[in-house]
Amino acid sequence: MQHTSYLEISKSAFQKNIEFLKTEIGDGTALSLVIKGNAYGHGIENIVPIAESNGIRHFSTFSADEALRVYQASQHQSQIMIMGMLENGDLEDLIQKGINFYVFEFDRLEAAIAMSKKLGIKAKVHVELETGFHRTGFEWEEREWLATLLTENVDFLELEGLCTHYAGAESIANYVRVRNQIKNYKKFKKWFDAQKIKFKKYHTACSAATLLYPETTMDMVRIGIAAYGFWPTQEAYIYRFQSLPEDIKNPLKRLISWKSSIMNTKAVKMGDFIGYGSSYMAPRDMTIALVPIGYGHGYSRMLSNQGKVLISGIIVPVVGTVTMNSIAVDVTDLEKVQKGDEVVIIGSQGDKEISVASFGESSQQVNYELLTRLPQDIPRSVVD
Ligand SMILES: *Cc1c(COP(=O)(O)O)cnc(C)c1O
Repeated sequence: MQHTSYLEISKSAFQKNIEFLKTEIGDGTALSLVIKGNAYGHGIENIVPIAESNGIRHFSTFSADEALRVYQASQHQSQIMIMGMLENGDLEDLIQKGINFYVFEFDRLEAAIAMSKKLGIKAKVHVELETGFHRTGFEWEEREWLATLLTENVDFLELEGLCTHYAGAESIANYVRVRNQIKNYKKFKKWFDAQKIKFKKYHTACSAATLLYPETTMDMVRIGIAAYGFWPTQEAYIYRFQSLPEDIKNPLKRLISWKSSIMNTKAVKMGDFIGYGSSYMAPRDMTIALVPIGYGHGYSRMLSNQGKVLISGIIVPVVGTVTMNSIAVDVTDLEKVQKGDEVVIIGSQGDKEISVASFGESSQQVNYELLTRLPQDIPRSVVD
């Protein structure tokens, strides 16, 4: 083993998630798989082929560098859409490669038109609207000039999409705000309709909106977290629980497992402090096992004296502080433990499981954060 831990990515779990999501959205709606954050930690190069083998032909990224990774990994000329960062200097390459991108301000739109003129290739743009998220998007007051530019430059622009993003559809606390955003989006759309400006796809929904506000799914949904097998929040799951199929009460399956092995074991006397400082004093004579993963590998320091791992099918607690490269766990009650034994940090062993949600509870990290903090250089392998 060249590394101290490794990740497994389950193909069959992904397939199940996509099947479920497709029944949710119906046949008329396309699914764009969001692969920002290194495909939510799963690895862009692992996920693109798995997704394409499940019929997905549309990928959403945050930035140009991610888009180019998808471009390299795609075997099916899938559509690629950048929702956030690119520099105007990237436009030549992106337009030549047919990569779609959001425009949310005039500077980028004008640069795209200019580059399209130069290349003789239409720029594939998605016009993002400000509906209440207040991060990016054209304002209502900007619509006239926007419409003028879009109309005057029909020869240089492929109007791929009209889009927006909701400010927290995963929580009922934001209900009124999301409702207002839906209303504002519709107002914009109606206005563009009246100007006879048509877009190929109207799209607004992330996972939470797809699962909780069906009217937002329109022509395409942009799905991230749910495709990787997680509910956007516990609250979203509870809200949907009643309406889920009787036989499968959680249709979303985790793809990722994180595993390591015991580096060494050590006997500790009652009253000894374990690890740095004095946060843990052995309450009895103990055996501890060192596991070579720490905050440098994405295992949060918040999990000091809180985290749990699986060894020999038994859940054992982290004792003492999480260090940069290792944790100590209490294996006193395990019958036989030795160096080299498998340690599951996320995933199943026997009939027990450590879920990503259980991390959230003890480290205050949301699913999204834990996943995307998994370092890119931990080896990832695709399993069935
Ligand atoms: C991240 C993101 C999504 C996907 O969100 P999930 O909650 O992971 O489904 C969709 N749209 C935009 C603009 C995003 O930034």
